[in-house]
Amino acid sequence: MHIVHIAAEFAPLVKAGGLGEVLIGLSRALTSLGEKVDVIIPKYDLIPTNLLSNLQKEVPHFTAYEGSQEISNTMWSAQFENINLHLLEMHHPQKYFNRGEIYGFPDDVPRFLYFSKATVEYLKIKQLPIDILHLHDWHTAAIAPLIRDSIKVHSIALSIHNLEHQGKCGIKDLEAIGLSGSALSKCHGADSRYPDSYNTLKGGIESSDAIIPVSPTYAKEILTHQYGCGLDPILSKRKSHIYGILNGIDELLWDPSTDQHLKARFKTTDPLEKIIAAKKENKSFLANRFNLKADAPWVGAITRIVPQKGPEFLEAAIEQTIKNGGVYTLLGSSPIHDLQHQFEQLKKHYQNNPQVLLQLDFDEALAHQLYAALDFILLPSHFEPCGLAQLIGMHYGTTPIVRLTGGLKDTVFDTKEISKQNGFTFEEPTIQAFLHTLNRAMKIDPEKHAIIRHNGLKTNFGWEKPANNYMTLYRTLLI
Ligand code: ADP
Repeated sequence: MHIVHIAAEFAPLVKAGGLGEVLIGLSRALTSLGEKVDVIIPKYDLIPTNLLSNLQKEVPHFTAYEGSQEISNTMWSAQFENINLHLLEMHHPQKYFNRGEIYGFPDDVPRFLYFSKATVEYLKIKQLPIDILHLHDWHTAAIAPLIRDSIKVHSIALSIHNLEHQGKCGIKDLEAIGLSGSALSKCHGADSRYPDSYNTLKGGIESSDAIIPVSPTYAKEILTHQYGCGLDPILSKRKSHIYGILNGIDELLWDPSTDQHLKARFKTTDPLEKIIAAKKENKSFLANRFNLKADAPWVGAITRIVPQKGPEFLEAAIEQTIKNGGVYTLLGSSPIHDLQHQFEQLKKHYQNNPQVLLQLDFDEALAHQLYAALDFILLPSHFEPCGLAQLIGMHYGTTPIVRLTGGLKDTVFDTKEISKQNGFTFEEPTIQAFLHTLNRAMKIDPEKHAIIRHNGLKTNFGWEKPANNYMTLYRTLLI
């Protein structure tokens, strides 16, 4: 089967969060199953091209229109490990993908609309026989209505990694990439609260053969007013095309036995005492580096700081962790100025406190080191499409404390039967419910915690099972 993924991220080359990790994990797993997989992403200036092999111009020059402006593009091909990558270089006067960052610009929607448009022009030139064209999130969703009548694609799949981001735009933005008539109207009326609104995600939802939210629970939640972000009426209409498939974690990117960032490595199958001893060494390493108390339970979060992730809970956990004699760590940054400022103030307040580390940036190496050192990882999210941090945490012997929503509900179990418990959960989105659960976790009897840790370590969260679920779905789409 020939599957073409088109997305904004591909880890480890260009990653802001879970999206990039899904792209490599799923592509790698589908390739291992013997499928032909191609991945198309923008050729951002921040991509470390030294990690690529056989980087060469595949189509040196082709054009695409943005409004009346004809713009030249170059498609590059390369291998990343055994994955076929295509990197689209757009010689756009606004330097759309040469800005040192992935997102966060006022013209993000035109940037990705133009990427979508130019990708379609490339596909037209190549005339590849594609079985499944797989789009990801709002960045590439407009390709579905754009391509429908112009290219022979058997089926289009659209993954929803986060419904909150929809590519909201004006009619002119869509017309600029050539959307008109019924294709344009698919993007219209996106938000039931604002009938005259347009967005790319709605166009994708209306024009794809399969809509794939990244966990079964999220697939149900997004049909409700509470979680539907205004798209719930449209999603409900397309309910029979929605298939929730849980993400996995890429076990080559996240392997504590080979992880080059770690001071002490361990296999998930090692005896628990050995794993705990290695985690202790990893903790001491970070304690020395950041002047933190080593001999204490460590609680932390590794996250984008946005309202979705429950910043009020992340803040409330600091004092409670200190009171419980633990160490609190937060690795994360916020694209929202006020939130970044709020956490910078907290950082100042807790400067030199051996029980608090607030590291307000994106740091891949430190993320690995923290997963390996922490005892508990926090995901007190208001909503969580899938969540990878809880899966990575469990794979590194770190117990998740999560709110029961989306993929967290599908992966973290806080049962009365200790043999099935792999974490701690709360449901009510209140500080009280969260702190109660945090205390319950931090005060757990060490022997019981060992069992919970072990339950997390032995669960297989790799991509093999999800990739098989994708293949089952792809096959039904091809019938
Ligand atoms: P989301 O995709 O909503 O951001 P996920 O839990 O699905 O959340 O995935 C987040 C991924 O990004 C994880 O691999 C996590 O370790 C990583 N990550 C988040 N913030 C940071 C950061 N500040 N530094 C390094 N890695 C981070």
